[in-house]
Amino acid sequence: MTETTDVVVVGAGFAGLITARELTRQGLNVVVLEARDRIGGRTWTDHRLGHDLEMGGTWLHWTQPHSWAEVTRYGLEVTRGPRSEETFWLAGSQVRRGNLEDFMKLIDPGMTRLLEDTMKWIPRPDMPLTAPGIEEVDQFNLQEMLDQLDLSVDERNANEAAWVGHFNAPLERCAYTNALRWTAATAGSWHLMHEASAIFRLAGGTRSLVDAIARDSGADIRLDSPVFSIEHDAESALVSYGAGRSISASRVVLTVPQNTLHQLDVAPALPDGKIRPSIEKTASQGVKAWIRVRGPIKPFFAYSSQHHPLSVVRTEFISETDAVLVAFGADATRLDVNDIQAVRSALKVWRNDLEVLETTGHDWMADQYSQETWLIQQPGQLTRYLTAQQENTGVLYFASSDYANIWAGFIDGAIESGLRAARDVQASITTTTAELAPTS
Ligand SMILES: Cc1cc2nc3c(=O)[nH]c(=O)nc-3n(C[C@H](O)[C@H](O)[C@H](O)COP(=O)(O)OP(=O)(O)OC[C@H]3O[C@@H](n4cnc5c(N)ncnc54)[C@H](O)[C@@H]3O)c2cc1C
Repeated sequence: MTETTDVVVVGAGFAGLITARELTRQGLNVVVLEARDRIGGRTWTDHRLGHDLEMGGTWLHWTQPHSWAEVTRYGLEVTRGPRSEETFWLAGSQVRRGNLEDFMKLIDPGMTRLLEDTMKWIPRPDMPLTAPGIEEVDQFNLQEMLDQLDLSVDERNANEAAWVGHFNAPLERCAYTNALRWTAATAGSWHLMHEASAIFRLAGGTRSLVDAIARDSGADIRLDSPVFSIEHDAESALVSYGAGRSISASRVVLTVPQNTLHQLDVAPALPDGKIRPSIEKTASQGVKAWIRVRGPIKPFFAYSSQHHPLSVVRTEFISETDAVLVAFGADATRLDVNDIQAVRSALKVWRNDLEVLETTGHDWMADQYSQETWLIQQPGQLTRYLTAQQENTGVLYFASSDYANIWAGFIDGAIESGLRAARDVQASITTTTAELAPTS
């Protein structure tokens, strides 16, 4: 006999775990099917290079309402990496050296001009599609918007490198609206956006929050349970997973990343507005690397350009004997993070004095269960697809950071979308139950 439950959640990243927690709190039976042998999805705290390192999502901030509510709820400690004491950047082939304030001053005119109309185009980041004309603005890519500013070579390199740090992709692939949405989420301040996206992290790692939510959910979480196909009708869905197992549920919430959704065998097929962006792919395609170097060194920040294998590097842990750096590049195919020679030469762009001891990272682009890093949309994808991506298809519901309104692509967005999906599922079940109840 086929097993039955109230709700199946596909995926145990933040979106899936939040959905499960909210629905079990409503008294529903929830089974979470996770393909990997761990929970957390694109967040993964793993002990490497002598530290608990984040292979994926890391930073959060009090301007991220959904993440911060969870930090408060579970009483988690927030910390930060060491403050940088020197900063390196490139002007053509020349290496410039200063402090972080010098670098911020260099990029400020470009950032300010690029983002001056932020609140005009995204007056309400929680409703990113409302401004008249947003469809036209969504056609531009970030590179062409930067090119229009006619920046000096120094400023141009520096601005591009800062954006690669944010967007993890070649800038001509990235919609300008991503930059507007991020900045609108911090009320138009690019300085605050910069801080919100890359400074503060959980002292116990993202694992501490993932585990707290999973524990709290009480849901039946099944690891090593990849979902292959879903057959659905007006009342229920049959989900096939693992080694020949299946489970029937009155609602299914899919939380797999945008880029992988089209690989699920769903019958009847999902609408075009969900499948097309999955086939087109997100813009993001970059790399995150961890690098241990011999100490002592001063904590530093370094920016190159979007064309280098590593565009941004900075110190995240430091001791008398060694330091661990975190680095980002625009294209995962340009750098194997486990190739110590390649990482050594990538660092030489700025400095010859660092002795690389070990490197590590995770290739999220090659990972079959993510195939993307954090969501950055291509031009046109926001206005063409977001609404369709958020809608339910009969008894199938969708949650993912990739479909969030405010901080899409962030942990915050995953939590936002999980809350929304859970509320919608709960409302639909309540309505169906009320319709079926006998009237006196
Ligand atoms: C390198 C990197 C750096 C990042 N940095 C930050 C940061 O600093 N701050 C921040 O806020 N965000 C950051 N992010 C983004 C953030 O981690 C993600 O947006 C968020 O974790 C996504 O959560 P999710 O639940 O929507 O998706 P996911 O975490 O991808 O969860 C989806 C789950 O579905 C599972 N799955 C996939 N296919 C199947 C299947 N067929 N059957 C069953 N299960 C399946 C996956 O294994 C996964 O567990 C980063 C991401 C990466 C990769």
